[in-house]
Amino acid sequence: MNCKEAHRVLCEAQDSKLSLIRRVTLRWHLSICDRCSRFRRQLEFLRLAARRYRDGGVE
Ligand SMILES: [Zn+2]
Repeated sequence: MNCKEAHRVLCEAQDSKLSLIRRVTLRWHLSICDRCSRFRRQLEFLRLAARRYRDGGVE
């Protein structure tokens, strides 16, 4: 898995479940790639922020 693929899989993981093989290859890539690890943290942060925003009942 290269970085481009990892990014795509990370984005897919936001709204659908990943197959086992994809989770494993993604985890492996993240363990060797700082850039994608950071990207994942950013996605997590955005997702949490969006949820907080929604739960806060703000338009
Ligand atoms: Zn990468």
